[in-house]
Amino acid sequence: MRVAIGEFHHESNSFCSEPTRVVQFETAPVYLDRGWCFGEELLAVARGTHTVLGAYIEKAAEHGWELVPLAAAETMPSGEIEAAAYAEVKEGMLARLRAALPVDGVLLDLHGAAMVEGLDDSEGDLLAGIRRLVGAATPVVAVLDLHANLTQEMVDAADLLLGYDTEPHTDIYERGLEAAELFAAIARGDVTPTACRVHPPLILPAINTCTERDPMRTLMQRAFECEDDPRVLDVSVFAGFYGSDQADAGASVLVTTGGDADLAKVVAGEMGQLLWDLREGFIWPLTPVADAVAAARQAGGLWAFIDEADDPLGGGPGDGTAVLRDVIEAGVTSAGVCMLCDPEMVEAAFRAGSGGVVEGTVGGKTDGRHGAPLPIRARVVSLRDEAIPFACWDPTLMQDVGRIAVLDADGILIPVSELKAGTEAINVFEVLGIDLAKLDVIILKGLGNTIKRAYGDIPRGYVEVESQGINHPDLRKMGEYRKLRRPCFPLDDDVEFGAQ
Ligand SMILES: [Zn+2]
Repeated sequence: MRVAIGEFHHESNSFCSEPTRVVQFETAPVYLDRGWCFGEELLAVARGTHTVLGAYIEKAAEHGWELVPLAAAETMPSGEIEAAAYAEVKEGMLARLRAALPVDGVLLDLHGAAMVEGLDDSEGDLLAGIRRLVGAATPVVAVLDLHANLTQEMVDAADLLLGYDTEPHTDIYERGLEAAELFAAIARGDVTPTACRVHPPLILPAINTCTERDPMRTLMQRAFECEDDPRVLDVSVFAGFYGSDQADAGASVLVTTGGDADLAKVVAGEMGQLLWDLREGFIWPLTPVADAVAAARQAGGLWAFIDEADDPLGGGPGDGTAVLRDVIEAGVTSAGVCMLCDPEMVEAAFRAGSGGVVEGTVGGKTDGRHGAPLPIRARVVSLRDEAIPFACWDPTLMQDVGRIAVLDADGILIPVSELKAGTEAINVFEVLGIDLAKLDVIILKGLGNTIKRAYGDIPRGYVEVESQGINHPDLRKMGEYRKLRRPCFPLDDDVEFGAQ
């Protein structure tokens, strides 16, 4: 059997000031060593990795499939993708697929929230292009991120779409294995999938989409119970991605059965209603920084303040200074911020050398939405020029964020990196040799639930603090949605939903 594999993985935030270009795929990989590769190179890069592609390659060896590697493109969440970059990925995939025809199937790793300038549903477009080439009878199966904005076009073009079951996303590889096995069953003719998508008028912030807590925990439990029915192949709950300004952005559920359309509809209706009924649980209050500082002072010890509005893994620039400025203004003199992307300051620090002094502004240079550049005079504590880990639960995952300098501005420790770093899943202070015992406050960017997993009981407590930016958990502060279907909870009042 000959099976084509490929990856197109990006979470596009429409509120970013800059589009995502090829150079970002080339320089900021997330799960693979190289986020931009075509043909045979894909196999060399993905083989043995704990990724969806790695799982496909392993399953191919097990089943004796001959693989046709198409292309792999992935990078950190950032702005909408430039049309030319997407055209290169799409044509890179389709040309190789065309040349390899006939194939017995296609296995893909997609995100589900990739937007291209002028093309809102890029995964729907890519899947439809692949379907046109391989025809209706050839199985096309893909794994999607839990934060996918699932469209009907995507569902119609694929035989089976499978979402992650976890957030933090710790089951990526396992979903790849599962997708490959379901694909094998479809290819053998053992099952003929039928899917039903339900899409309540909901756009949810990511702040409480952790699957270990409610409301996602309840939703996933119910999904697994539904999957106990042997007629149900898969129930995927998608929290959606709030940063993509497109009509279909938001939460959904996809139910796939082995050919029973009525059952798929019944289960999807029930799951959609449950998602709708639990909607208020996704809304999470933020604490003003001054109140958080006062409470931390009273309690004593180290406190972690979570800045989700500048979540680098939600498309934030990772250079926001809003919380740091408020912390300093509240009188904190011993703190650390993790971390600020500032290539200018990194260059200055490397010029000054370890122990040298730098003067200038740090952070806030990408756009005007995450706090202004902060004037500092700081000592260079240390310099580093090697990759850092990406997730504490997977030591094989590394991220190259360019050179890193740790600055000390009168007790405020500021690690700065050349490229944006996604650090919510690691204790980057430990990685950089910074002793947290001496600090009163650390400011961490990203999702609180993931951060808590990485830091455990090291801080005395965690507070999700008020901030500003393009991942603000109060979606009314994100900016203006222009294309999203309305009305939509929680942006509008009196939104109604009745599952059909
Ligand atoms: Zn995700």
